[in-house]
Amino acid sequence: NGYTPSTKTIAAISTPQAPGGIGIVRISGPQAKEIAGKVFLSRHGKTLEEINGYTALYGRVHDGETDIDEAIALNFTAPASFTGEDVVELSCHGGLYIMRRVLKAVFAAGAVPAGPGEFTRRAFLNGKIGLTEAESIMQIISAQGEQAAKAALAGHDGALEKKIIRIRGMLIEAAAHLSAWADYPEDDIPEVNPEILETTLLTVKSEIETLLRQFDAGRAIREGVATVIAGRPNVGKSTLMNLLAGCERSIVTEYAGTTRDIVEDTVILGDVPLCLSDTAGIHITNDPVEKIGVDRARGKLREAQLVLAVFDSSQELNEEDRELISAIRDSSAIAVVNKSDLPPAIDIKYIKKHFQQIVYISALSGDGLQEMRDAVAEVLRTSELNPADGILFTERQRDDARRAGDCVREALTAVESGVTLDAVTVSIEGAVSALLELTGERASEAVVDSVFSHFCVGK
Ligand code: GDP
Ligand code: ZN
Repeated sequence: NGYTPSTKTIAAISTPQAPGGIGIVRISGPQAKEIAGKVFLSRHGKTLEEINGYTALYGRVHDGETDIDEAIALNFTAPASFTGEDVVELSCHGGLYIMRRVLKAVFAAGAVPAGPGEFTRRAFLNGKIGLTEAESIMQIISAQGEQAAKAALAGHDGALEKKIIRIRGMLIEAAAHLSAWADYPEDDIPEVNPEILETTLLTVKSEIETLLRQFDAGRAIREGVATVIAGRPNVGKSTLMNLLAGCERSIVTEYAGTTRDIVEDTVILGDVPLCLSDTAGIHITNDPVEKIGVDRARGKLREAQLVLAVFDSSQELNEEDRELISAIRDSSAIAVVNKSDLPPAIDIKYIKKHFQQIVYISALSGDGLQEMRDAVAEVLRTSELNPADGILFTERQRDDARRAGDCVREALTAVESGVTLDAVTVSIEGAVSALLELTGERASEAVVDSVFSHFCVGK
């Protein structure tokens, strides 16, 4: 990628996430061994420079005057290291104070401080990892929850990159065929069959659309979903909230309209963190205090990414229920038909007409909780998420995939309307170029900079 190797040797504390009290100072660059040799003395009095070929050495780190700590020096010779450069890692078991002294000694010996993400950046520039892989390293560092970590790991294994390269391959083949035929129509290159071309484009389009859909599902798992529990007083919102939270959070009472304030909590339902808020109803009221609650509830409903609309199955639907149904017409919503343990009186046909997802539950007994998990996974499409398949997990990746998708749609329109094949080729090339940017093979320096600027020092 036309990158000239850095002449600077960088160092930083890059302590792993694993506990155990071990701290690591990582040194990377052409002078890594020389610099490490100035601060590290092996037990047998050998310096690192003399011990090429050793991978690990036990000894002591010193600052030229005094010993700082005992240490193990791990030696990686270019290009067989994380960054692709010569790397020495000094592992000490000191705390932060000791590690800072070690780092200071390393700087005094000639290393310069590593910038945020600079080790990973060098790994990328030296072709050790792809851009999407670098992004997934960052995701792993900040991942919350098992599924999120899995999704990030999938990027780490290069699943996304493999998928993008496969999709791009289909496009490149189509474009190559098109241009060969356009350039040498008199040769015996078989004529481009518009139907086959169309099939290829449709396949690519659907793969990109799946990736884009799954981006939202992946984000739901990583970042959580703003969820509102809505419903008129006494349908069982607080009880549902408590069931989901597994503890007594809201105040449950026998009297209607107790929950004035929005009560919030985050629960993990299935794989998905839901940031729940329990609202006051959205009934029409003249009470000024209640009115504030109702207005806030409407605001929350508009902002919600998911609405759990709770109804009391033992009661007939009333005006307030219908008002809620109409207020969430355009939202992602699940009808939660509560109190399934009581004799039913609700007009379920009306509910069915307005909701695609209906869950019958008894918030009191917990019956129907599994159905609730399934419905949430269905609405947020997290059930169809298979990280091992490769998923988009940053907005940068999503934007590039979107652009590629737009170009493919353009190409399809061109094929279908029978315009010149040149126009089709241009659109396909646009898609290929967007996908090259996605994997980082043709990403601008600004893009690369912005990816690594989010890293912390030492990674
Ligand atoms: P909210 O006003 O919508 O928050 O309703 P609450 O959660 O405060 O519940 C109102 C009343 O309904 C309480 O007495 C609850 O015990 C009761 N309740 C809630 N869920 C159920 C249920 O599934 N079955 C039965 N039988 N009662 C329930
Ligand atoms: Zn309540």
